[in-house]
Amino acid sequence: MNDAARALAQRDRTIGLLDAQVTELRARVDIAMHAARHDGLTGILNRAGFVDELTSRLTRSRQKQTVLLIDLDRFKSVNDTLGHDAGDDLVRKICAAMTAVMPADGVLARLGGDEFGIIIEGMTEVGLADFCGMILRVCNQNRRVFGHEVQVSASVGVAQQGSSLSHQDMMRNADLALYAAKREGRNRYRIYDAVIDKAARHRLSIETGLERALNTNQFKMVYQPIVKAETGRIQGFEALIRWDSPEHGSISPTDFVPVAEETGLILELGDWITRQALKDCRRWGGDAYVSVNLSARQFLRQNVGERILQFAEDADLAPGKIQIELTETAIIDDVERADRNLKILRASGVRVALDDFGTGCSSLVYLNQFAIDCIKIDKSFVDNVTRDRQSAVIVASVSRLAASLGMSVVAEGVESEEQRRILIAAGCGALQGYHFGKPMTATEAGRLVKSLATLDSTGAA
Ligand code: C2E
Ligand code: CA
Ligand code: CA
Repeated sequence: MNDAARALAQRDRTIGLLDAQVTELRARVDIAMHAARHDGLTGILNRAGFVDELTSRLTRSRQKQTVLLIDLDRFKSVNDTLGHDAGDDLVRKICAAMTAVMPADGVLARLGGDEFGIIIEGMTEVGLADFCGMILRVCNQNRRVFGHEVQVSASVGVAQQGSSLSHQDMMRNADLALYAAKREGRNRYRIYDAVIDKAARHRLSIETGLERALNTNQFKMVYQPIVKAETGRIQGFEALIRWDSPEHGSISPTDFVPVAEETGLILELGDWITRQALKDCRRWGGDAYVSVNLSARQFLRQNVGERILQFAEDADLAPGKIQIELTETAIIDDVERADRNLKILRASGVRVALDDFGTGCSSLVYLNQFAIDCIKIDKSFVDNVTRDRQSAVIVASVSRLAASLGMSVVAEGVESEEQRRILIAAGCGALQGYHFGKPMTATEAGRLVKSLATLDSTGAA
């Protein structure tokens, strides 16, 4: 072989080698592209793939597109109790079950931990309702996961293509509908409509108003008496926040506290509330305590115990004059942290009340397990004690149980003398409600405390 032929052969070999490398590279790129658009656990599209698909359908397809966002309810508790492998197994099983009911032109994707997305096209109203119902049923089935029977439900938010809706709009609308489905009690679907749209706008204006409100002193605290059941003597006051907004008028805390929770503003707002309430209580003097509501997010914050004690020191108020009110969700969400925070607070004399007892999934087990001093029986129970005997019987047994665990009981929302009588007979030691006093300003509360002190001293004289 001459030099020229050798050079040619060498070149061919190099080209062949390069070719092979290019092919391998291409394969790797394909794998990487596939991985970037697919979910490792289930093999279906992931969020990026889903968004790509939706974008291209919105521009190309002539059919009307519909997006479903599906969120498994309380999936976290499966992960927490049975472990992450079990959670993964459940996700895979539900994914397979949903795949089996997908229409031919439908797309299913896993958008996150327990969140799925579906795109379907050209559905009629009836067809869509049927399909959503089927997805709910499929998710809701009983499944065996790692030897345990597991049943979860799902919430579904639906958005339909309208004129000039971008993929971002559709995802946002579906998300708002999903949020509405959850708020309305989960295990249901909601289709985005004008009502949801209006609520979303209202929320948004609350959201933007809230931040400004904190910086421009639009919040104030009011205080509602908690009285000893037998005598009606004031023992303390529950601190309740009020917002007078220049744009919206007075807004109920039931409307804005959850929004502040979601945006995280509750941390700053909660600090303001606590400081204010402790300062006011210090000013009252006497022996009345102040009871401060702590939202779940606030309570599960790191060092919340130390924080409250610092505020007490700043206000020069004995921790023994402070009570905090928590709901069960604040404890259940992160049991370990809650336990730690509760111990720190109680060790220094702060009392802990369990708020809204009797609503939601009240479990007596928690009462014994956690450091709790007081149970606040929810107004919904109190409302019923005059109407049905059963409610009075339940209040009585809760009171007995509380007493045996060394806890006290406050009944909330007492509005009549008849309720008062029945609640005393049922063993409630303390009462709160319009019958004894509506929420009042700090100054009015202070006046009441002073008049009590005068009464005591003249009584003693
Ligand atoms: P909650 O903690 O259960 O507070 C009791 C609510 O019932 C208060 O409403 C109180 O004004 C009202 N109430 C008391 N007695 C009666 C009665 O006899 N009849 C009727 N119809 N209502 C009565 P409010 O002040 O509107 O607060 C609503 C909820 O907002 C509170 O429920 C609490 O969950 C939340 N909230 C209020 N203030 C704060 C706060 O400072 N921080 C946090 N995190 N949440 C707060
Ligand atoms: Ca409360
Ligand atoms: Ca309550």
